[in-house]
Amino acid sequence: MELLKKRIQSDGKMIGNEIVKVDMFLNHQIDVELIQAIGQEFHNRFKDKQITKILTIEASGIPIACMAALYFNVPVLFGKKYISVSNDDSTYVSNVYSFTKKQKYNIRVSKEFLNEEDKVLIIDDFLANGQAVIGLLDIVNQANSTVCGVGIVIEKGFQPGRKNIEEKGLQVESLAIIDSIKDGIIYFT
Ligand code: 5GP
Repeated sequence: MELLKKRIQSDGKMIGNEIVKVDMFLNHQIDVELIQAIGQEFHNRFKDKQITKILTIEASGIPIACMAALYFNVPVLFGKKYISVSNDDSTYVSNVYSFTKKQKYNIRVSKEFLNEEDKVLIIDDFLANGQAVIGLLDIVNQANSTVCGVGIVIEKGFQPGRKNIEEKGLQVESLAIIDSIKDGIIYFT
C-alpha cells in the first residue's frame, strides 16, 4: 500500500535496526483517514472469506480493527492485557511474549463473544516474530472458531513472524513489508 509506505518513510522513527516507531500516525496520534484506507484495504483482501468477527489485541490494534470492521460490517473483539472483573473460567487465556517489552503477559477474551460458528480475521499493527498473532490464534482455537486470515499493517520481513504463521497454514496479508533498516533508512520489499 503505497500511501502507507510513504507515510512510514516520512514519519517513522527507527530505534536501532529492529524497531520502527510510528507514533505520529498509528501508535499514539492516529491519522484516521489513513487508518480508514487501511481498513478498506483489509476488506479488499479478505472480503470473500465470510468473516463474522475481527480479533485484535489492545491497544494499538483496536482503531485499525474498528476501521476494517466498518467495511466487513462485523464486531471487533480485542484481547485484553489487563485483568478486569472476569476470571479464568469465563475467559480464554493465552500467554504472549512481547517483542517490544521483552516480557510475557496474558491476553484474555471472554467466552461469551467467541464460539465455534465464528470465522475470524486477526488484525494487528506490527508483525515481528509472530507471538502476538500466535496468542490470538491460540484463543481462536480454544473457542473452536475458524481463522480465515491474518491482516498486518507493518510487517518486518527480516523477522520470522510470517514464516511462523504461514507454517500453520494461514494466509498473511501485510500492507507494508519492511525488508531492512540500515543507518536509519527503511527499505521495503
Ligand atoms: P510479534 O508478536 O510479532 O513478535 O510482535 C508484534 C507485536 O509487537 C505487535 O503487537 C506490536 O505491538 C509490537 N511490535 C513489534 N515490532 C514492533 C515495532 O517495530 N514497532 C512497534 N511500534 N511495535 C512493534
